[in-house]
Amino acid sequence: MEFDLIELIRKRGTAARDDVLLGIGDDAALLRPPPEHVLAVAVDTLVEGVHFPVGTAAFDIGWKALAVNLSDLAAMGATPAWALLSLTLPHADRRFVEGLIDGFATLAGQHRLALVGGDTTRGPLNVSVTAHGFVLPGQALQRVGAKAGDAIFVTGTLGDAAAGLCCLDRERADADQLMGASGGSRGKLIDALNRPQPRVAAGNFLRGVASACIDVSDGLLADLGHLCTASGVGAEIDADALPLSSALLTLFDAEARDFALAGGDDYELCFTVPADRAGEVSSNLSRMGCGAARIGRIVSGEGLRVHDTEGRPVRCPKTSWEHFRT
Ligand code: ADP
Ligand code: MG
Repeated sequence: MEFDLIELIRKRGTAARDDVLLGIGDDAALLRPPPEHVLAVAVDTLVEGVHFPVGTAAFDIGWKALAVNLSDLAAMGATPAWALLSLTLPHADRRFVEGLIDGFATLAGQHRLALVGGDTTRGPLNVSVTAHGFVLPGQALQRVGAKAGDAIFVTGTLGDAAAGLCCLDRERADADQLMGASGGSRGKLIDALNRPQPRVAAGNFLRGVASACIDVSDGLLADLGHLCTASGVGAEIDADALPLSSALLTLFDAEARDFALAGGDDYELCFTVPADRAGEVSSNLSRMGCGAARIGRIVSGEGLRVHDTEGRPVRCPKTSWEHFRT
């Protein structure tokens, strides 16, 4: 049965690439990185009930398992090429695996990524992807490198996925509210949770432009905090400059800002650039479609301060995600 599933996965296939000398089917894949480049490698695991709600569609699980890894490559400024897929399934459910591979392959196709191998075992539902990309030595974006005075940007909008999760929870709590007048907005927020768009093109553009970069997976405050710690700097955030979608603002009022500051699962890029390049960065990223909002500046010292446009301090939510919090 395991071998039927592997055959199904192999047949569904992903992009054919000349640099895959041997893909699925042997004991290991044989891959040829382009001359002079280094490999950027990242692994991320999705556990049912932790990283996606029980009942999430198979397509969305496959999409998201790859998306979160492509987001890590994007944050390094790397170009994705190959992936390994480790699947742990409670049953050998063909329909489920077909859906999952469809979701995976749809996103893989958008980035010319080839699935070159993996592992299939039985157990509680768990999907782990290892993604490989290329970047020239010295050109990778890193968390270290932000300097006092740099402008802080974030791509896309923040808080949508956390709001989408909240919608799903409320839907369970109050079935009457299903498909109310705001169905369109709710659908958009739930889509943000289930089908994040990794900012690969933005990450590629930012090579040689950004002084530091991280992807926002655990909430802006947590991840910008990691960037600041790595760079040995602090940050000031203008809460009124946070990019909020109209779907978020339609359904959430007071909570919208907290979702943007501390909600997880955004998979946007948060990066810093020297202030004199801020204008050029804004216009280039808006031309690329995702846009980037200037949300604050790097300061010397340490810690994050959040204020409004008038400079008044803003209370920060303390809810960003940590797996082993005691
Ligand atoms: P081995 O016992 O040598 O690890 P497996 O039976 O686990 O071999 O895998 C056989 C082939 O199928 C290998 O090439 C492996 O990379 C591939 N494979 C197994 N599971 C998956 C999966 N979930 N996705 C993609 N390739 C897979
Ligand atoms: Mg194996």
